[in-house]
Amino acid sequence: RFVSLEGGEGAGKTTVLTALRSALAAEGGEVVCTREPGGTPLAERIRALLLDDGSHEPPAAETELLLMFAARAQHVRATILPALERGAWVISDRFTDSSYAYQGGGRGLDAGFIAELERRTVGLQPGLTLLLDLGVGEGRARARDRDLARAGDGPDRIEREQDDFFQRVRAAFLARAAGDPQRIRVLDATRPAAAVAAEAVAQLRAWRAA
Ligand code: C5P
Ligand code: MG
Repeated sequence: RFVSLEGGEGAGKTTVLTALRSALAAEGGEVVCTREPGGTPLAERIRALLLDDGSHEPPAAETELLLMFAARAQHVRATILPALERGAWVISDRFTDSSYAYQGGGRGLDAGFIAELERRTVGLQPGLTLLLDLGVGEGRARARDRDLARAGDGPDRIEREQDDFFQRVRAAFLARAAGDPQRIRVLDATRPAAAVAAEAVAQLRAWRAA
């Protein structure tokens, strides 16, 4: 009953999350929607540290990795496991696959080290991961429009990184999906948001039925 959404900037994770939440809530059970980095008050403070790069120097890659896992260790223990133990559905906007993609692929940190952190501090994987895949140029353009239209976390990685960073992130996500096709389903996110959301709901239903 643990599902994660992954993908690059501007891929439409929020629309899909809303659709999955409605589909599951219609069945009457509890649905916990959460996000990373974040998902608990302490982990949200770590998120603010990571995303607010106006107030301090940019984190070193290693600092970023360890803060992501510090937040995730808390998120698992304080939010995800208690919810799963109550029998709730948990849908997380990003989970450990994002660390393999951003800190591994994007920042060049060793995947073996990430796997060791995962094993020792996380210890669980989603049963289903939906990867919203989108070309880097289109994702950046969409994320920029969105960030101009609302006050959120501020400019994410979008303004900070070059296209080759996002190409490495995308390639790392796709490589993870290729290595674990049972768990990770790739959705073509170039389509309109409603079509992507409908396919996500269909994938969730198919996975449950299997
Ligand atoms: O998914 P969302 O846009 O809320 O993620 C917030 C920011 O954190 C994004 O800029 C994303 O690229 C970044 N991030 C990251 N490494 C992770 C998870 C998120 O760099 N493991
Ligand atoms: Mg964002």
